[in-house]
Formats: sequence, structure tokens, C-alpha cells
Amino acid sequence: MSLHLMTTSGAMGEPDPKAADYYSQAMSYLGKSGTAQKIIKELEGCNWKIYVLVQKECFPMFAHFEMASQHGFDGSLIVWDPIGLVTSRKKDAATMQSPAIALAHEMGHGVQWVKNRGWYLAYVNQVLNGDAQKSGSPAYNAKLVIENDNIQTHETPVAQELSEGIRKDYNDAADFSQAKKNYKAPYPLLPLGHG
Ligand SMILES: [Zn+2]
Repeated sequence: MSLHLMTTSGAMGEPDPKAADYYSQAMSYLGKSGTAQKIIKELEGCNWKIYVLVQKECFPMFAHFEMASQHGFDGSLIVWDPIGLVTSRKKDAATMQSPAIALAHEMGHGVQWVKNRGWYLAYVNQVLNGDAQKSGSPAYNAKLVIENDNIQTHETPVAQELSEGIRKDYNDAADFSQAKKNYKAPYPLLPLGHG
């Protein structure tokens, strides 16, 4: 049982021929972070299958097995946008986090689920049973508990180890156009050459 790259999904559009490249580039970049290595090891060694669906311009997410199985999956599911960027800050300057950090973030949710399943499910069920869009609602607050724990425990250490920008918390949004201007991709997003 481990991480499985899923490059095709009838339910979610056409397969992306570059999906495996995007995934392996992000994974080898994440391999330079000790925290990311631990996250990957935790998921590779767990007793469940975890699928990684690479889908450009999707909304990234982690669907735990209990939820994904209701949609026909025999494991948990990470959906990852290989070109998606999230605003963050480096010192005080706005910048972006690379798509690899977003992958580490979703994998971090996987680790929350694997290691603290009861805790994770209790909060996720509050999110699912309420209105998580409504600021201040119990569902919204439950979502923040999960997200901020994931940012502190997984996303931020990985970003720091890779010299990327960090987010103070889930609601920390830096100026988008400034962030885009300052951002430089830290790893190649496409193969450099075709032999
Ligand atoms: Zn998240």
C-alpha cells in the first residue's frame, strides 16, 4: 500500500500526458526537504492506497478513504494542480508557493488522516455537516483547525527547508500581482528536452 499516481480519470476530464512528469519533478524537488521526506515515507508506509490525481486548474484536495470510497475509490485520493500557485510571504515580500508545496500540503492532510485519524475525522465531519463557507460557523472553525495544524506541522517546515515563502495561517493571503512578480519557479515544471 502506498502512493499511486493516477494519470487518468474518466470522471475528471482528459488524462494529461505530462502528469507523470509534473509529479516526478515535484517529488524529486520535495526530496530535498527532510520534512517532505518524512511525509512521503509516512504515506508510502501506511496501510491504505493513496491515489494522486494530477489535474491542471483543479481545486486541490485530500479526500480520505471514508469519503473517497463513497465515490468508488478503494483508497484515499489527493487531487493536485501541477501548475497551481498559492500566495505566501518571504520575509515581508509577497511571493508564491510552488505547486510542489501544494502537493506537500495535500499529502500533509494524508498524514493527519493516517496518524490522527479520530481527530481528523471528527473535525472533517464537522466541516461536512455544516457550512464551512460561513465565517465563524462551527464548520468554518473546524476547517481552520485542520488547515492550520497542517500548515504548521507540514506545509511551513517544508516551505522553509526549500527556501520558499510561507503562510502565517490558512487565511493569510498576500497581494496576488506582487506575489506573481516576485515569484521564481524553484524547479522545472516541464521536461527540459525531449530525446
Ligand atoms: Zn488544506
